[in-house]
Amino acid sequence: MNIKVIAFDADDTLWVNEPYFRQTEEQFCVLLQQYASVHELERELLKIELANLPLYGYGIKGFILSMIEAAMKITQNTLSIDVVRQIMDLGKQMLNQPIELLDGVEEVLETLKGKYRLVVATKGDLLDQERKLKKSGLNPYFHHIEIMSEKDDANYLKLIKHLDIKPEELLMIGNSLKSDVMPVLNIGGHAVHVPYHITWAHEQIEHSIDNERFKSAVTIKDILAYL
Ligand SMILES: [Mg+2]
Repeated sequence: MNIKVIAFDADDTLWVNEPYFRQTEEQFCVLLQQYASVHELERELLKIELANLPLYGYGIKGFILSMIEAAMKITQNTLSIDVVRQIMDLGKQMLNQPIELLDGVEEVLETLKGKYRLVVATKGDLLDQERKLKKSGLNPYFHHIEIMSEKDDANYLKLIKHLDIKPEELLMIGNSLKSDVMPVLNIGGHAVHVPYHITWAHEQIEHSIDNERFKSAVTIKDILAYL
């Protein structure tokens, strides 16, 4: 491998993210428990979230709007303003969460800095991701921060063009096979999957990956052995 740039996904790769969505979803289900079962509430919320993705994109603000929409649907538009306020409060709590770095992240960045150009490649809400990076204290490690609306082949191609490297000089590290691995392999880059213990349904893929530019790791520290 002749890697020049190592790109890191942010949510559930550098820091904890998905558990906060799960916790909020649980609180959402408690708020609406008199109207439907947890299973029905979760299913309705996911359906509305996915339908709204093209309009709102990823991130907490879109999630808040989707919770309100799901609550309206489930209560057949009899939702009280007080519940709307509680849903908005849940969202604000998420936006104000402290950043919890995942194990080994700082050690890995410390080891790699100066040897490779390190970048962040994340999707989500621009302001929220910028705020999380700032709170994480990791900004000084990174040469470039790319916040994409969608992690697809075209946007990764734009990133390597911006970084002025060839696809095979990029190594992407992330917890999502769908967003961090598949599109990078598609454009000719290298990818290491570092799974997180929970994955959003929308990020899951069913098939296995067989590609010589793909590796799987147990923890982020394992990537050091591949370099
Ligand atoms: Mg992620």
